[in-house]
Amino acid sequence: MGASKAMLIVCDGLGDRPIDALGGRTPLKAAYKPNFDRLARRGISGIMDPIAPGIRPGSGPAHLAIFGYDPFQYYTGRGIFEALGVGMEVQKGDIVFRFNFASFDKEGRVIDRRAGRIREGTRELVKALGDIRIPGVELIFKEGIEHRGILAIRGSHLGWKVSDTDPQKDGLKALPCRPLDRTEESRRTAEIVNKIVDQALEILERHPINEARKAKGELPANGILIRGSSYYEEGPGLKERFGLVGACVAGGTLYKGVAKFVGMEVLEVKGATGTYGTDFRGKFEAAVKALEDHNFVFLHFKAPDLAGEDGDPLKKLEVIERIDKAISGIEELRDILIVVTADHSTPCALKTHSGDPVPIVLSGPGVRIDGTEGFDEFSASKGGLGRIRGLDLMPILADLLNLASKFGA
Ligand code: ZN
Repeated sequence: MGASKAMLIVCDGLGDRPIDALGGRTPLKAAYKPNFDRLARRGISGIMDPIAPGIRPGSGPAHLAIFGYDPFQYYTGRGIFEALGVGMEVQKGDIVFRFNFASFDKEGRVIDRRAGRIREGTRELVKALGDIRIPGVELIFKEGIEHRGILAIRGSHLGWKVSDTDPQKDGLKALPCRPLDRTEESRRTAEIVNKIVDQALEILERHPINEARKAKGELPANGILIRGSSYYEEGPGLKERFGLVGACVAGGTLYKGVAKFVGMEVLEVKGATGTYGTDFRGKFEAAVKALEDHNFVFLHFKAPDLAGEDGDPLKKLEVIERIDKAISGIEELRDILIVVTADHSTPCALKTHSGDPVPIVLSGPGVRIDGTEGFDEFSASKGGLGRIRGLDLMPILADLLNLASKFGA
């Protein structure tokens, strides 16, 4: 019949370009990865353009596409996915931003965009921001990791097409928030954001936590920088669209947020941090367990992307080997369709995302085995799946799980 459940493993930023120091191979090609290679030998491989050929995807839109959601329709900005990822309650029509606590000097210049990477006291500072009052709208602040937080503006006649106040560089003044279209709604939102920024400066400057930080010679978190404007509207879930009851195992809030947006249950896994230090094996074990009561499990590993952005091919190779080791025993999941892929390439030479397609392999009951020998960018490009787009993956997966219905008579 085929598999009845699927596990999708996304290795963030996995794809790369040939590297001289690795003899013209990519970190994935050069890595020792017996488990990934076995999946390729027992599966069908191909390459995938997460958004479209040559497009350099952000992780948010790339994951939306892989889950079957056209990012041009569903991706407004990163704020909303970060909000969902930290478990914030949002409502239709909310305008959602990310913000940073930052350190400002007396002249209003940003001395440090991350307020010395403040760790302690942000909960109290966020609570103090709750005193900001803007007539006609409700404001919701929530703390994130370290210097980061989320702001939602709730009310009517609000637009989301507004600019960031983050100057992206220390030593500059924060930018005024400006409308990016000609609507009255966006103009109103920009005006509200600027008022919030001004009131935040007043409240935070005299907050006891900042007094204490200054007394210790630490940078104060005496202002906020706002970015990533987005708009929330609930879409149809994976269950409705593909019959998939999903669970998510990820460390990073963005990935949890996208998973939540498409209707997955986000599992909290101890030791899943979205960093090099994450518990790779613990995450895999949690994903296997989640297959008991879900027919679709998304398992996300961030580390390859971090190594790519650090421009460190040997580190990238090492984390790929660690992920491969962490999924040891995956071949014993006999009635499960396993998919391994990436959300984009992060070539070490670029230290950022590229538009290169990513390798993908599907292995499990019902899959037409294509004779591919290993899992890497070169082998995958000769595989039987050919070249697909991110949006093609969920229909292919649902079809292999026999959840798809017939098109026409
Ligand atoms: Zn990514």
